[in-house]
Amino acid sequence: MELIQKLRNFLTRESKYEDEAEGLLLLIRTVILVCLPVYIGMFIYSLIASLGIKPVVTLLAGVIFYAGIFSATYFHRSRKCMIALIVSTIIISGILTTIFGWRASFQNIIYIVLLIMWYDPTTGQKRKVLWSVVLGVSICYISHKTTFGVALIPPDTLFYSVVVYANIVVFLICISIVAYYFCNQYIESEHKLREYARKLKQLSETDPLTKLVNRRYAEEELEEVRKDSISQNYMFCIAIGDIDFFKHVNDTYGHDAGDFILSGLAQDFKSFIKGKGFVARWGGEEFLFVLRRMNGDEAMIQLDQLRTSIKNKEYVYKGTPIKITMTFGVEEFSDSDGIKKTIDDADKKLYMGKESGRDRVVF
Ligand code: GH3
Ligand code: MG
Ligand code: MG
Repeated sequence: MELIQKLRNFLTRESKYEDEAEGLLLLIRTVILVCLPVYIGMFIYSLIASLGIKPVVTLLAGVIFYAGIFSATYFHRSRKCMIALIVSTIIISGILTTIFGWRASFQNIIYIVLLIMWYDPTTGQKRKVLWSVVLGVSICYISHKTTFGVALIPPDTLFYSVVVYANIVVFLICISIVAYYFCNQYIESEHKLREYARKLKQLSETDPLTKLVNRRYAEEELEEVRKDSISQNYMFCIAIGDIDFFKHVNDTYGHDAGDFILSGLAQDFKSFIKGKGFVARWGGEEFLFVLRRMNGDEAMIQLDQLRTSIKNKEYVYKGTPIKITMTFGVEEFSDSDGIKKTIDDADKKLYMGKESGRDRVVF
């Protein structure tokens, strides 16, 4: 377990450049890590079996190049590593294919490199097309130079079979890794987009000071409640609550104290409304309450309890206790009047409450 963790840390170690395409570097490292042991094994075998200078030198060059590119991913720009990978793969795979024959499948790694190159987020589309042409032409040239028959090792030997199947397995593993990276990139950006949209929606619906939903959300939600109340056949009430003499609070204790009270009140409203409906910041120091499954009398009783609890509370701002009262206007919703008229009527009742002395609930 510890070894796997160490290997993972080693592989995922960030490049020395802060703005580097880390995903691409990680992909290059992983693919090289899969290929390298196979190349090392083949190199050792060619050495022991005295296959000749050409395969020994080419396989050794392959091992050195890939190991070099692997370590370069920690110190150099991803673009440089990518170019080095493309060029060395064309040369090494090209020579190995001509030596071992087409069936040995050394050329397959060129397709992998092509996919890795397309994964690179820092390279422009035009350049990618250009590199694709270079890789395509290289494959054609290698194919032209290669015979299907195997000159170096007879096809009925065990080593030949090992070379063929090792290259196929390497190809399958590498292509799966690349596909995994592409898939992950897609899922990640999809997830980020959804998260961003969610945050944006939340921001557009929330009042930043009180963290209550804002008027816009309330208007949309009211429409939903209206439809719901009709389909499920229940009553609901709309109330508007306004802080009494709030201007005086601001003038006496300062605007920050006023803000403090608004957010404190919002918390109290949230606990009050839980399971009953919803509350929104309707305007400066005005709040809209939607009380579901209640008639006017029931809503009035509930709101009067809220009014009393606010009246009895002290909002302590920087050691100074501040007391406030609120006035509410409540109206029962009726489908014949509609939402807008119900709100206007609740507003009128609020005004009546203010006129008749404040600190009350008017229904
Ligand atoms: P009334 O009892 O008639 O409602 O008196 P009032 O002073 O509350 O009414 P008025 O409409 O004259 O004043 C409302 C005040 O609410 C004025 C404004 O400065 C204050 N206010 C509105 N929004 C905010 C806010 O976000 N923060 C603070 N601190 N004050 C606010
Ligand atoms: Mg007021
Ligand atoms: Mg007001």
